[in-house]
Amino acid sequence: MQNPPVEQAEVLVLGAGPAGINCALELNDEKINCLIVDRNASAGGQLPEIPTEITNLAVGRFSNGRELQQRLGELVQAANLNLVSNENIVSCDLKAGSAASASRIYQARAIFLATGYRLKLLPENESFKRFSNDIFYHTGSVQDQFVNRRVAIIGGGDSAVLEALERARTASEVVLINRSDKYKARLDLIRDLRSNSRIKVMSNASLGEMYGDEGLQEIRVHSTTGDTTEICKIDKVIVKIGYLPNTEIFKGQIEMDSTGHIRVESDCRTSLAGIFAGGDIAAGGHDRIAYALGNGVMAARSIRRYLESQS
Ligand SMILES: Cc1cc2nc3c(=O)[nH]c(=O)nc-3n(C[C@H](O)[C@H](O)[C@H](O)COP(=O)(O)OP(=O)(O)OC[C@H]3O[C@@H](n4cnc5c(N)ncnc54)[C@H](O)[C@@H]3O)c2cc1C
Repeated sequence: MQNPPVEQAEVLVLGAGPAGINCALELNDEKINCLIVDRNASAGGQLPEIPTEITNLAVGRFSNGRELQQRLGELVQAANLNLVSNENIVSCDLKAGSAASASRIYQARAIFLATGYRLKLLPENESFKRFSNDIFYHTGSVQDQFVNRRVAIIGGGDSAVLEALERARTASEVVLINRSDKYKARLDLIRDLRSNSRIKVMSNASLGEMYGDEGLQEIRVHSTTGDTTEICKIDKVIVKIGYLPNTEIFKGQIEMDSTGHIRVESDCRTSLAGIFAGGDIAAGGHDRIAYALGNGVMAARSIRRYLESQS
């Protein structure tokens, strides 16, 4: 069997979200050779998932995440950054400074880990499997599917509440189902949710079995505090039950906390020399664009210092 081709770079950036791209832009300014690898088709990470206006960035307002993603893509092009897209990294040897996809090995003197979050999935069960065509995790490109339909949204964080508010514009019915009566979403979103008469909120409730002949028609909603079950007529289910850090491929190689977030120093160094991490996957961090951007800059500075100390 032939050995896979090896791609060399001074610095390897894993993930082309806000953290990875800002790190690469800063390195580019410093004329440090850098290669970014991402499994998505284009840069932006979670940005296209943001359906509403982005109002918490001091550089300006963006009508939604797609607009910001487009601006980020333009920057990548203008700076002529070296981005390898559609490339899923499946394993790493961080000590050796290498990461591998199915067909290629990437080798660098320093690595910035910026692989971000992914959505948590529903547990595997027959009922969920049978109606998988009516269960959605991402809705950005399939908005039409919910128009004039009865939609249930599962979760109680920002994403779930944003989704409920968005669906309430065009769906015939919207139900938000949350396991507890505590909502992790931003206070302004919770206020909007409570005042929206088109959304039925079911707290202390969990998604149960699903029924239907051809497609989904009905779900059971179980109380998490008592023995009661409610039947809801529903056509589509949108799942927003939280996020997990994409750090499995780094496990056992660098220090992480019990939730799989990578432990970092304030300058984005990890427990392993030459390996840096930032953005959503950093332990004790904040899942915010500005935080990821700042981490990207911080990591680039630390990487420069590290490379100088090694030469
Ligand atoms: C619905 C929603 C609304 C939000 N609203 C806001 C908001 O209003 N304001 C705000 O500040 N923040 C908001 N956020 C949070 C913000 O999007 C994130 O904090 C930010 O995108 C984190 O950037 P990141 O670079 O750390 O990770 P990500 O954006 O997650 O980027 C990580 C990248 O790594 C890639 N990757 C992962 N694993 C691999 C692998 N094995 N191989 C190759 N590539 C890999 C992924 O494809 C992805 O492109 C929102 C998020 C969501 C989901």
